[in-house]
Amino acid sequence: MSNIHNILSKQKAFFSTQKTKDVTYRLELLKALKSEILSKEKAIYKALKEDFNKSEFESFISEFGLVVSELNLVIKNLKKWAKPKRVKASLLTFPSKDYIYKNPYGNVLVIGPWNYPFLLTMEPLIMAVASGNTVVLKPSELTQKTSSLIAEIIANVFPKEVATVCQGDKDISTQLLAQKWDYIFFTGSAKVGTIVAKAAAKYLTPITLELGGKSPCIVDDTTDLKLTARRIVWGKFLNGGQTCIAADYLIVKKNIKEVFIEMLKKEIIRAYGNNPKRSKDFPRIIDKKNTERLAKALNNVDVIFGGEIDIENKYIAPTLVDSPNLDSQLMTDEIFGPILPILHYKTEKDIENIIWNSEKPLAFYIFSKNISFVENTLKKFEFGGGAVNDLLIHFGNPKLPFGGVGSSGMGTYHGKHGFNTFSHEKSIVKRGTWIDPPARYAPYGFKKLNIIKKLFKWFG
Ligand code: NAD
Repeated sequence: MSNIHNILSKQKAFFSTQKTKDVTYRLELLKALKSEILSKEKAIYKALKEDFNKSEFESFISEFGLVVSELNLVIKNLKKWAKPKRVKASLLTFPSKDYIYKNPYGNVLVIGPWNYPFLLTMEPLIMAVASGNTVVLKPSELTQKTSSLIAEIIANVFPKEVATVCQGDKDISTQLLAQKWDYIFFTGSAKVGTIVAKAAAKYLTPITLELGGKSPCIVDDTTDLKLTARRIVWGKFLNGGQTCIAADYLIVKKNIKEVFIEMLKKEIIRAYGNNPKRSKDFPRIIDKKNTERLAKALNNVDVIFGGEIDIENKYIAPTLVDSPNLDSQLMTDEIFGPILPILHYKTEKDIENIIWNSEKPLAFYIFSKNISFVENTLKKFEFGGGAVNDLLIHFGNPKLPFGGVGSSGMGTYHGKHGFNTFSHEKSIVKRGTWIDPPARYAPYGFKKLNIIKKLFKWFG
């Protein structure tokens, strides 16, 4: 029996003991996880620094801090979330007490990406455990230090039959995907998302796919340009541009484009200095392969700022590119790096032509004070979620469901939405035996039908 099969068999056996249905047990595990994570705070920053030069500040705001907040939220609310919820009886169920029970799916597989390697593995794991599932977690092979630390943290807190980590590359992923899971939660590229969906289809396993895409950012001429430039530079170059919800490219109103580009340049220098390679706050590209991919995308385009490439040191400078062709690599593939193409528009039709050139994006941003333009634009385009007059921040509110649509993903999580994602909602109607209206039973006849029709009319 292979190791993976062995682990899953143990988790299946443990799930059937009903122990994970006990909310108090789940809370004990989550509290233990919180104290283990708090005790490893420095080690987590060190691992992220070693994996891709991520600063402590960025590691706190975009990984550690968010994981601890999510743990605090779930520890505070779990009892309430897990309780069966009473709903009103309907005409057909009355008289009855009707409930929605939140039930764990069972054995969950979580596969994570490398770009926020701590956050994007721990958050689904936390919610899967909170919902009463067992978990096998496969973190990315590209962030060796962080993935090993995650394995250590999980091993220190969870019995293997509740949660465990399988480290490795796509071969391990493939072996994991060949098993029969009760739920699969995948974060990564659309290409691998398709492989996951196919594997899940074999057993009709429900899935969440958190994927990527080309997220546009529109800047019109009513916005505060200086503040807009500052916010865009922050949101685009955070994590070295390796953020699934970063603005992939800008679409700027033509009459302000030149002046806005100058402001972007100033903001990049303000944030990372004249030589961002020396900035301790500017991360590296995750590996050589991705650095080469980004370098290739800069061939034959109009680089108007940055553009320095050092493949050996996995460095690409924060780079601005003017008006690349819509059929160039920069505008057909997700960029996922510190390169920002700047396109322009005169009419709303121009915006449509650019955005509808790509699949439905994960995020969408618009900087404008024109309320009707903002509302029309938000309604017109399909995308996972987004923000007005800022980047990324919709990720930070656990009350908002986070996820993509179409090729940017399916399903959502964060806060209670995450708990719901890993729970099956069982509908339960509890009826008494003290009354049993005879109208529904055969023999039917016109009289009974008339009574039923009247009831439908009254209650409908
Ligand atoms: P990836 O798809 O290459 O890898 C993700 C995971 O899948 C890794 O654990 C990897 O080992 C595994 N994997 C790779 N190839 C596989 C295969 N053939 N079969 C089975 N498993 C395989 O993605 P990545 O490079 O780690 O991350 C970048 C992508 O993830 C970007 O597209 C980005 O937009 C997306 N992303 C999305 C979100 C989100 O929340 N929606 C968050 C972060 C990243």
